Amino acid sequence: MHARGIPSRVPVKIHALQTGKVRIKTAQIEGRGKGIGRQLAIFRDSEWAWVPTFAYAVEHPEGVIVIDTGQGLHLLRHAESLHPYLRWQVDFEMQPEDEIGPRLRALGIGRNDVKKLILTHLHVDHDGGLAHFPNTEIFAARGEIDAASGWGGRLNGYLPQRWPNFFDPKPVDFTCGGLGPFEESHTVTKAGDVIALPLPGHTANHLGVFVETGDDLGTCVLFAGDASYNSAMMQQGKVDGVSPNETLAGETLAKIRKLAAQVPLIYLPAHDPQAAERLLQCRTA
Ligand SMILES: [Zn+2]
Repeated sequence: MHARGIPSRVPVKIHALQTGKVRIKTAQIEGRGKGIGRQLAIFRDSEWAWVPTFAYAVEHPEGVIVIDTGQGLHLLRHAESLHPYLRWQVDFEMQPEDEIGPRLRALGIGRNDVKKLILTHLHVDHDGGLAHFPNTEIFAARGEIDAASGWGGRLNGYLPQRWPNFFDPKPVDFTCGGLGPFEESHTVTKAGDVIALPLPGHTANHLGVFVETGDDLGTCVLFAGDASYNSAMMQQGKVDGVSPNETLAGETLAKIRKLAAQVPLIYLPAHDPQAAERLLQCRTA
């Protein structure tokens, strides 16, 4: 299936960029119970797990496209002003060279090479490296921008007060028609081979980014953000502990499985310990 007709002639190169790691409760990774009980289970849980925080870069003929910006050092340096949930239920760890700017530079990608940045959602471990992209066209789902802005956003654990002054993302509205099991999408590249898809669940307006790699096998990639914390949970339809709407989150995971049945798909969530290795080995979902 070629989603929009013209695959890239030269296969795109994709990089997993680890921007540190985060320690969260196991009941956040895999939800327990029903309704509000799922959130309470996280506070009661005494088991923690460290997971990596990945951002991704696609070397595309139209310029480098980055998906998410990962963690920023400010999360460690100014922890006292974080939302209580982030202070007490989450730990971040990283070194200065883990920020996405240095990670890209190590690959020979400078800040002016990055033409587009797409944010799966605006949680602090996804927008933490925004400062590295002052000259990049930035996209996020319209509803996500609204939810994360202002005092409402701050109360919900977003950090709009730490967004750089230049941050003025273009709202994505998903008006470009369907793709496989998804009824709506937003095409990002002129070639039509990079497509944002609505993946509501983890947040109400969370999105993912689908890429046709242009290789001979028709391999596609889905940058899935926090649609699930790992591939097994997507395959088993297990919803995390923070999704406000468990049913909707489950439906999103079912659509991803349908997509993976239609195309050879590499599934790349932001916190999957196996993501970098899966990418290297081009293992499909
Ligand atoms: Zn998140």
